[in-house]
Amino acid sequence: MVNSFDPAKTSELNSDLAKLIERRSKVLGPSYKLFYDEPIHFVRGEGVRLYDADGVEYLDAYNNVPSVGHCHPRVVEAQAKQASILNTHTRYLSEVVLTYAERLTATFPAPLTSAMFTCTGSEANDLAFRIAQTHTGNTGFIVSSNGYHGITSAVAEASPSLGQHVPLGHHVRTVDLPDPYSDESFRAESCFAANVESAIDDMARHGIRPAAIVFDTIFSSDGIFTHPPGFIKKGMELVRKAGGLFIADEVQPGFSRTGDTMWGFQRHGVTPDIVTLGKPMGNGMPIAGVVADPDTLRLFGRTARYFNTFGGNPVCCAAALAVLDVIRDESLQENSQRVGKYLIDGLRQIAAQDERIGYVRGAGLFIGVDFVKQDNGIPKPDPEVGLAMVNRLREQRVLIGASGTHGHVLKIRPPLPFSMNDAEEFLDKTTKALHNL
Ligand code: PMP
Repeated sequence: MVNSFDPAKTSELNSDLAKLIERRSKVLGPSYKLFYDEPIHFVRGEGVRLYDADGVEYLDAYNNVPSVGHCHPRVVEAQAKQASILNTHTRYLSEVVLTYAERLTATFPAPLTSAMFTCTGSEANDLAFRIAQTHTGNTGFIVSSNGYHGITSAVAEASPSLGQHVPLGHHVRTVDLPDPYSDESFRAESCFAANVESAIDDMARHGIRPAAIVFDTIFSSDGIFTHPPGFIKKGMELVRKAGGLFIADEVQPGFSRTGDTMWGFQRHGVTPDIVTLGKPMGNGMPIAGVVADPDTLRLFGRTARYFNTFGGNPVCCAAALAVLDVIRDESLQENSQRVGKYLIDGLRQIAAQDERIGYVRGAGLFIGVDFVKQDNGIPKPDPEVGLAMVNRLREQRVLIGASGTHGHVLKIRPPLPFSMNDAEEFLDKTTKALHNL
C-alpha cells in the first residue's frame, strides 16, 4: 500500500502512539496497515475537519466515505432515530427501505430502476459479477490494468491493483488506459477500444466469452483518468457486441463527487447495464448495492437464492436517505463542481512553476496530480516525491492520499462540503509542503 507505516519504526514514535500500535499489532491480524510515517490517532470529526488525540485539527482532503461531512448531524439523527425504533432486514416489509430504493433509483436514467442492497462495495461487485454471468451465460471479465473492485475471492481476482500475490483469474483480462504523456491521449477512445478488442480476442482464443467489462468510472486506483469524457464508449460497445455487459463501479465517483453529474458514468455519456455503489452511500454506515435494469436481474432473481442479512437494513437506509437529502439541500453536487474547478485551476498554476508536477486533472472533487521527474525531457512517474508530498502535507495538517500504478499520483478527494476557503487553505499548504520537499 502506498503511504503505509513501517511497524519497525514504532519505537521512534511518541509513547502514546507507540503503545496503541503495539496493542493493535497484538490483537489485530497483520493485514491491517496504518497511513503515514507517523500514524494519526483521530478522536473526533466534524464537516471537513478531523481532530487528533491532542486536539490538533486537520483538513480532510482525502476521505470520501463521510461524503456529506464527518458526523453530519442530519445523518446521525436519522440513523439514531431509526435505530431507536426498529432495525430488521429485507424479509419483512419496511417503508424506509422502499422509500430509499425509490429515491435512489430516481437518480438513474432509464432503464436502471431496480436496486439490491449489500453492506460493502466488494459485495456489490461480487453480486454484479454473479448477475452478469447468469444473465449472459458467459464467464469472462475485463478490467483496467490497475483496477480495484474489492476483497471477496471473485472480485479480488479481478483487482490487479492487489498486486502479484493476489493472482488474476484465468477468466480475467486487463486493459491499459491511454497514456496521458503520449499521443495516445489525443486518440484516447480508439486507443482504449483497441485494448478492449485485444482483451476480447485473447479471451476468445482461450474459449472464454465476456460476461462484462467492469470499470470504476473515475479509474481511481489506476491513477484517476477523467479525460476526455466519453473515451470508454467504443470499448464498452465492443464488449456488448461480444455478448457482455458494462458494469459501472461507482463506489468511488458516485453520489455527486464528479460535480457535473450525480454518477461518474454520466460524464462519459453512457448507460451501464449494472451500476455498483458503496462507500459514500451511508456517510460511513455500511450500505452498498447494485442498481440495474429489472430485465438484467430477472434470471438471477429466479434462479439464485440471495439474502444479505444486513444489506439494506432500515437503519442504514435511513442514513442513506438522509445523505440524499443533504446532497440536495446543501447543493453538494454544485459545490463539488465549483470548488473542484477552483482547486484544479489553482493546482495548475502551482504546477506551471514546478517541474516536479506533471498532469493535473479531475472531475468535481476528485482530482489527480502527477509527481514526475524529467528523463531527457520526458516526464516519468516519481513515486518517492509523491509519497514525500503526502507526508509533508500531513505536517501541514492536511490529509491526502496517493494512488496509481506507480503510486506517484496525489489523490484529492475531500468530503463534498469542502468550501472555497478550504480550497484556499489546501492550495496554500500545498505550496508550503512543496517548499519543504
Ligand atoms: N470498488 C472500488 C472502485 C473501490 O474503490 C472500493 C473500495 N476502495 C471497492 C470497490 C470495495 O469497496 P468496500 O471496501 O466497501 O468493499
